[in-house]
Amino acid sequence: MLKLTNSLTDRKEVFTPINDGEVKMYSCGPTVYSYQHIGNMRAYVFVDSLRRILKYNGYSIKGVMNVTDVGHLTSDEDDGEDKMELAAQKEKKSPLEIASFYGGLFFDDLRSMNVDLPENITYATEFIPQMIEFIQGLERGGYTYIIDDGVYFDVQKFAAYGQLSEKDLSKTYSARIEENIKKHHPFDFALWKFVEDNHIMKWPSPWGVGCPGWHIECSAMSHSILGDRFDIHTGGIDHRTVHHEDEIAQNDAFCGHQVVNYWLHNNFLLVDNGKMSKSLGNCYTLKDLQEKGFSPLDFKYFCLNTHYGKSINFTFDAIKSSALGFNSLKKLILEHYNGQGKVEEDKLKSYEDKFLNAINDDLNTPLAIGEMFTMLRGENRSRAVYDLVQKFDRALGLRLDIDSIMPQREESVPEEIMALIEQRNEARVQKNWALSDELRDRILSLGYSVKDSKEGTKVEKI
Ligand code: AMP
Ligand code: ZN
Repeated sequence: MLKLTNSLTDRKEVFTPINDGEVKMYSCGPTVYSYQHIGNMRAYVFVDSLRRILKYNGYSIKGVMNVTDVGHLTSDEDDGEDKMELAAQKEKKSPLEIASFYGGLFFDDLRSMNVDLPENITYATEFIPQMIEFIQGLERGGYTYIIDDGVYFDVQKFAAYGQLSEKDLSKTYSARIEENIKKHHPFDFALWKFVEDNHIMKWPSPWGVGCPGWHIECSAMSHSILGDRFDIHTGGIDHRTVHHEDEIAQNDAFCGHQVVNYWLHNNFLLVDNGKMSKSLGNCYTLKDLQEKGFSPLDFKYFCLNTHYGKSINFTFDAIKSSALGFNSLKKLILEHYNGQGKVEEDKLKSYEDKFLNAINDDLNTPLAIGEMFTMLRGENRSRAVYDLVQKFDRALGLRLDIDSIMPQREESVPEEIMALIEQRNEARVQKNWALSDELRDRILSLGYSVKDSKEGTKVEKI
């Protein structure tokens, strides 16, 4: 029985999908205007754990992750500039070039952390007609109004506004109305923004030339692919109070009922106990970590050792000790791989149950890793334990298989070749050049090259 903390209730709930055996989920993806930092990466490690654990429980997944390549403003208050457009101006490139460059790096990062990618990756700029249709639907329902700079969603028309952050519209209204008199309510948000002629990214619409608001992208894309109701929506906790409130308002107003059953949020990754910021120079990327000797999987292991709902404080000392832990885990796995011992079936079953209970208790990966360590430390070194770790790794995605733990193993020269090399060396000592050449050809035909040098004979796979 899988339990997940639903942000709608702030409680752990038993997960029950709409359709038996299948999970439909949407994950807020990156805005590809710059490098994604390790805080962003935590959000995708969380999505990976969720997907893997759902699959471990036998569910099939229809997943969607968006790539925001238009419409995300530099401020949540509907002013400021489009992040993509700004980056294009700064770097003197087209928004498409910016999106494909940073998007490419983003997916490289995910692959390097062995993240299980969603079945559908959707780019906002490819869903503009669906966004326009969605806004038209809201307009028909009476949820919109137009002012000088765009089409807005009228939150006061949506009685359930504020479910995720327990916002009280009337209280905030009086406190903040003077700040922004253009809108009917400070929480109203842009569905479509009119743009100046010199704006690069713009599309025609029934209301005028412009570009979509950021929140409408996620609603239109999730609706296009997952339909009127789906199971899970994920994102970082920073999106809980604005972006996701606004998505709920749009979705539920458009469909006339609750669309998403479980909202899941990963907590922050802090650096030196504070927010990451460009001015502090602490917006680290996976590449920065690699330059200091930590692999993307070291970072993933570091994340998995804290529950997704708690904040993590990243420091280089912390990842260093975590990486040492990861190395000792791999060493133990290797010992079991080579072990000749026996472990009773009952015991293996009980480890498997404990692991499953941990991951199913709201994705408690730190506890699951702890259970795995207990088994690896306490049991006779045996291949059966290694095999069980391979099963656990389907939920963790840490590449705990022997070839990943010992990459050089694959490259090591097979015994058959080594025996031929020795025979050839012997022939050379005997100055039997004909035999030496014959052996070299045989080695070559088996896919290895032989080079003789002062340091000795070097063998390489061709
Ligand atoms: P963005 O590109 O800003 O929309 O962020 C992409 C994802 O990363 C979103 O799900 C954010 O909520 C998440 N995110 C951003 N910063 C952090 C952080 N410091 N810790 C954890 N998640 C974050
Ligand atoms: Zn989103």
